[in-house]
Amino acid sequence: MLNRPRIIIDLDHVVYDFVLTFAEWLSQNRALGSLNVPSAMRKYTSWGFHDNWGMSKGEWMRWWRLGIEADYIYRQGELIPGARDAVWRLNDAEWHVILATNRLNVFGMHDKIVESSVAWLRDKNIPYRELLFTTDKKKVLADAIVDDVHANMDELVHGREFLFPSNHNSDHYVGSFEKREAWEGIVNDLV
Ligand SMILES: [Mg+2]
Repeated sequence: MLNRPRIIIDLDHVVYDFVLTFAEWLSQNRALGSLNVPSAMRKYTSWGFHDNWGMSKGEWMRWWRLGIEADYIYRQGELIPGARDAVWRLNDAEWHVILATNRLNVFGMHDKIVESSVAWLRDKNIPYRELLFTTDKKKVLADAIVDDVHANMDELVHGREFLFPSNHNSDHYVGSFEKREAWEGIVNDLV
């Protein structure tokens, strides 16, 4: 019987570019104010990126819900650079890939969120053996984890922790090149 090592891979900001997709959604709806998509991406520095974009939390939440309903958020949107190759390399090296996300946090939208998520993963050809919608990754045993939020990780539960770089967890703008390199470094460490 195979006893593959288990790796938890977060979706948002690690495989799926949530902020870029949100910026594109707002831009299409002329809701980004004076910003365009590239300037919005450079301006975002915190988890509450609506503040960076001069948008109230309520207004942001309204656009979030509308984007999910319109089959845009979680259904459309870009991969994080390097993510697909990285997940395939881990999968091919016999890592048991567990995609884990806390996306079921918009009331009344759970069916849409699940449908859009699995359809997007299929479109983007991301391999996985488990897909978890969970509010607490610290209750899921693994040998490694990749996440953009340090609070989601615990080395006693997850073995090796890899904090994936994003504007909101570093002191500078994290561009495509740096993200691609980050994924490459993680895989080179594990394969
Ligand atoms: Mg995340």
